[in-house]
Amino acid sequence: MEHNLENLITLQELELHFRERQCKIEMLEQEMTELRQRLDQAKVEAEETKAKFEENQKENRKLEVALKSKEEEKTKYQKQLFSVKTNREYQSLLNEIEKVKTESGKLEEKIIVRLEEADLLKGDLKRRKAQISKEKKRVEKECQKLCQQVGKHQTEQDTIKSKAGELKAKLEPEVLSDYERLLKLKRGLAVVLAQEEICSGCHMHIPPQLFEEIKRNDQIYRCPSCLRILFT
Ligand SMILES: [Zn+2]
Repeated sequence: MEHNLENLITLQELELHFRERQCKIEMLEQEMTELRQRLDQAKVEAEETKAKFEENQKENRKLEVALKSKEEEKTKYQKQLFSVKTNREYQSLLNEIEKVKTESGKLEEKIIVRLEEADLLKGDLKRRKAQISKEKKRVEKECQKLCQQVGKHQTEQDTIKSKAGELKAKLEPEVLSDYERLLKLKRGLAVVLAQEEICSGCHMHIPPQLFEEIKRNDQIYRCPSCLRILFT
């Protein structure tokens, strides 16, 4: 086989392997990104729970203050009971006390609901934090593994690149530039097999005369349809 042609075939193979590794690297990097995004999402959710808990505490403090003021009101009325002069005033104070008691009761109910909610939120937050710290360790371990795999593919790429460089140096410059132009145009497939008078790049028919010549593999022939370099 003509040496340029032979080198081109090997070069294209190497570049194919290089791109395969590139695809793998990108997939691994994507996987790492997704793992980290999931962890970040869990952190955001935990922050939301924390904010809910804080809001609950704020609300509860407000209710406690309101309850305390009602209690003070009640004590004030109860003290007044001793100093009233008429039965009507006495009755009216008792009514006020009843009213305050009802309001206090409602506030107490609200506080109980808030306290129960606080317990749930606290438990939820604790669970989320534990989950995050477990998940963080797992993600770190997983990413470390994935990083190692990326590194392995990159080392292989370096080897491929240096082999390709050696081959390129052996090729005649115009053959190489022609190949590289074709490679870009034909999306990574510049040198293709000719089989049974068919170009495997574009699947078009190759004239029998040309096919006979191609079979010799003694120089660079091109497909008349797609212009790819052919070999058999
Ligand atoms: Zn073709």
